[in-house]
Amino acid sequence: MNDVTLKVEGLKKAYNMGKPNEVQVLQDVSLQVAKGEVVALVAPSGAGKSTLLHIAGLLDSPDDGTVAIGGEDMTKLGDRKRTAVRRNDVGFIYQFHHLLPEFSALENIVLPQLANGIAQADAQAHAVDLLTRVGVETRADHRPAELSGGEQQRVAFCRALANKPKLLLADEPTGNLDPGTSDRVFDALMELVRSSGLSVLIATHNLELAGRMDRIVRLDAGLIA
Ligand code: ADP
Ligand code: MG
Repeated sequence: MNDVTLKVEGLKKAYNMGKPNEVQVLQDVSLQVAKGEVVALVAPSGAGKSTLLHIAGLLDSPDDGTVAIGGEDMTKLGDRKRTAVRRNDVGFIYQFHHLLPEFSALENIVLPQLANGIAQADAQAHAVDLLTRVGVETRADHRPAELSGGEQQRVAFCRALANKPKLLLADEPTGNLDPGTSDRVFDALMELVRSSGLSVLIATHNLELAGRMDRIVRLDAGLIA
């Protein structure tokens, strides 16, 4: 057991390395998220928030440094085990919902569970429970296009939590919503997170939202300020 869910150390990442348009995005980034902790990752646009989240979520590799999830060094794992950790232990939420357009809200939460070997009836019950907790259970049979922006994002939260990850990474999850909706959707996310004891890293440039999290980490010029 380990009380640190996510620990990244000495991360470096450059794009277009060796070319004239090389950008060194992460210079030396270290941070950790404890079990049950909600951390805000605050930085202006272009500072490397998405890059850092993708590396922490094993969607991209750093040029140097380590990523440990649940105390296990992911940089030492083979591709298959990394993929398994990404599927089972990490949930991702983006600024845009990325729900599958041809499926209902409920199906969007059921499908990732089926892919993980959960029985249909159990997957469905869990999906309904999640939708109820964020207050969109009455929209379960609607397709994404029939939902408001705030509802779409609530469903996306449920989908990210469908396989009961231990780490949730959210990339400006309310960035597409108007301020009032953003506030309410953020409340729903926090309730869901608190009741499941998840560890969360949320990128945002909204200082008001960041102030409602447990801790703020600032990324500046490729370093943690
Ligand atoms: P943020 O999420 O904080 O807005 P990003 O991590 O998306 O920042 O981007 C950080 C910097 O890296 C930006 O200057 C961006 O243009 C650059 N960048 C991001 N992805 C790529 C890529 N695939 N190729 C080249 N440059 C990239
Ligand atoms: Mg970004």
